[in-house]
Amino acid sequence: MTTVGILGGGQLARMMALAGAPLGLRFLVMDTSDEACAGQFVPMVVGDWRDEQALAEFASRVDVATFDFENVPAESAEWLAARIPVFPAPRALRIAQDRLAEKTLFNELGIGTPAFAAVETRADLEAAVARIGLPCILKTRRLGYDGKGQFRLKTPADLDAAWAALGAQAGKVGLILEAFVAFERELSVVAVRGRDGAFRAWPLTENWHRDGILSASMAPAAGVAALMARALDHARELAEALDYVGVFALELFVRDGQLLANEMAPRVHNSGHWTLEGAETSQFENHLRAVLGLPLGSTDAVGASVMLNWVGAMPAATPVLASPAGHWHDYGKSPRPGRKVGHATLRAEGCSALADALQEVAVALQRQDEFAPVLARLRDSG
Ligand code: AMP
Repeated sequence: MTTVGILGGGQLARMMALAGAPLGLRFLVMDTSDEACAGQFVPMVVGDWRDEQALAEFASRVDVATFDFENVPAESAEWLAARIPVFPAPRALRIAQDRLAEKTLFNELGIGTPAFAAVETRADLEAAVARIGLPCILKTRRLGYDGKGQFRLKTPADLDAAWAALGAQAGKVGLILEAFVAFERELSVVAVRGRDGAFRAWPLTENWHRDGILSASMAPAAGVAALMARALDHARELAEALDYVGVFALELFVRDGQLLANEMAPRVHNSGHWTLEGAETSQFENHLRAVLGLPLGSTDAVGASVMLNWVGAMPAATPVLASPAGHWHDYGKSPRPGRKVGHATLRAEGCSALADALQEVAVALQRQDEFAPVLARLRDSG
């Protein structure tokens, strides 16, 4: 009996455990909170990431460890990797945790990015804004997610406010200034690399954000045939450069037909949730197969899918449950503004049937505005 240890006990760990049950796997999660939602049905070790006693207990009870949360301190991942197999390896995690290191690697590999500059002092910020131009975004290098730790600068007058908001972080997690990209679309590649170097990617996904948080995804993305090969090459080169094992996501902006990489997430990703119902093998199952050294499953799409994120609080379930296309995922979390508490996936044979299903659900939930761009894309593609 194999036990997979997961660092972080959120919804990603929860969905990984659900996907691992048919493979006969057992799980143990470690989290800093005893309320982590995977703990509702997976045994849990509660402790701080730097608590060696908790890490030692976790290590003694698992055969292999992986992550649902990429901000586990790299030192803790290294401590574990000295004792048990850990995938992805701590080096990959360390690079992907740092926006400056990952963008530098992207450029070394010939993957385009928005213009960027490291910022350590207020004078650096002024020099960086002068070089990169406005509008731009100041971000923390580490520990930011879902639009947190970011400040958008539109005019020179915003410099003071940006420094007031994030300057204190400069000495702690570091800062990076990026050009603001007026993108036409956001895409992601969700891909997996096995222990033996086998590489597979799911079809490209198109993503829509609200307030810096993923709101909806559509897969396979429509009208991106010209970009597909380059996007997959970028993902493969990145995975090989990091000797990466497991699932990861590469987030891309499309501007003037060019791809610009925003970031890499070294774990299963919200823009890959549709694969649970919309692909032959889900990202969660393939991640487990990769970290266990098992053959990877097919990443082919099954029909067309749209994933709708529930942020803050769960809406009524009935319209999705009543839809022939509907699949419901409630993470069992308490509501809180900005918190991802669940999602729904609608899946149909083609874009036009999917558009009809989405329209019905959006109207019933009174969320037509939120999902209008997704509906428009589906109607264009159907
Ligand atoms: P991130 O936390 O870097 O993934 O950013 C969250 C979202 O904010 C992205 O998916 C974009 O919608 C937006 N965003 C982040 N960086 C930029 C940028 N340099 N230019 C334009 N939009 C951005």
